Amino acid sequence: FAPWADPNAKPFISFRNVTKRFGDFTAVDNLSLDIYTREFFALLGGSGCGKSTLLRMLAGFEQPTSGEIMLDGQSLSGIPPYRRPVNMMFQSYALFPHMSVEKNIAFGLKQDGMPKTEIAERVAQMLKLVKLEAFAARKPHQLSGGQRQRVALARSLAKRPKVLLLDEPLGALDKKLREETQFELMDLQYELGLTFVVVTHDQEEAMTMSDRIAVMSHGRVIQVATPAEIYEAPNSRFVAEFIGDVNMIEGKVALEDGRSILRTAEGISVALPETLAEGQSVALAVRPEKLKVSRQQPEGAGVHAMRGEIWDIAYFGDMTVFHVKLPSGKIVKASSLNATRGVEDPFGYDEQIWVSFEPQAGIVLKG
Ligand code: ATP
Repeated sequence: FAPWADPNAKPFISFRNVTKRFGDFTAVDNLSLDIYTREFFALLGGSGCGKSTLLRMLAGFEQPTSGEIMLDGQSLSGIPPYRRPVNMMFQSYALFPHMSVEKNIAFGLKQDGMPKTEIAERVAQMLKLVKLEAFAARKPHQLSGGQRQRVALARSLAKRPKVLLLDEPLGALDKKLREETQFELMDLQYELGLTFVVVTHDQEEAMTMSDRIAVMSHGRVIQVATPAEIYEAPNSRFVAEFIGDVNMIEGKVALEDGRSILRTAEGISVALPETLAEGQSVALAVRPEKLKVSRQQPEGAGVHAMRGEIWDIAYFGDMTVFHVKLPSGKIVKASSLNATRGVEDPFGYDEQIWVSFEPQAGIVLKG
């Protein structure tokens, strides 16, 4: 499933140069983005980056200051929220406290004037979908957080929207329930063949659930890609540091025979694929699991190796993270899975060791 990679696929939702200003504050800044049908798409970013505003404009609760939002080839401008084939599930779930689960789910359908028998049928379907048949008569306060979340989901799916917008859908759940619910949401989305756009500030959640992620900052999209691409090939320091852990090995561009070379304080040199100005700052980003700690000097073509000293050791059960101090004073993190580590003597504090990485593990980032 990768419609975004197909040049003939038409996007289902398109933001075209969308800007939203509140007074003189720009919340969304000339943003363009395509989302495909049946995609589980995440908007990921820190607080205030404009992700909820983007979702609210898609739902029709806010109007863009300029630009256009298209859905299935039609402009949404001037179309009120209730006439859009889009439904939104809020973080607070916004359930009616005095109404039973059943009545909460039926509410929107009743407002639309759906005949009673049809409502009953649809509600029964929804209760089954979210596995709450036994809870139909309960009030929200008689439910757990996870059950309330499922009622909210059933209610927002009852009208059979083509697109479901979810604003921090799992925010109110504890860690274990969140993880379970992530998989339930993914199953449901797949089964119903819907397009989900989810807003989250939780990178793990975005990585687990979505087909693609848009990483946002200051009202702009910095990178749109699959979770693996975002992690393996971040396009900027911002994305590399926002997603997962990373070692930034800083350096400067030197020119040799007209070619640009990155040289770091640790003595690593890397030929750069493009010509950059001499003296420009460039970083080599290396993920902790790509850094290897060893007693023997590592061999192999092109392997970058640095001397270092074990500074700290953190044991996490499944893996161990070594903090290694380099001669420049910089501390880098190297992680290794405990299940796959060799039987050599464990490293000790202050031990002199080598840290190394394969050439393809270093991601060159400008700026
Ligand atoms: P969070 O994760 O904290 O909800 P967010 O990325 O969803 O953040 P938005 O809610 O989209 O952020 O808000 C983006 C910016 O726009 C924020 O700085 C916010 O204060 C501002 N903003 C949002 N709505 C309004 C409004 N109605 N009036 C004025 N400013 C607003």
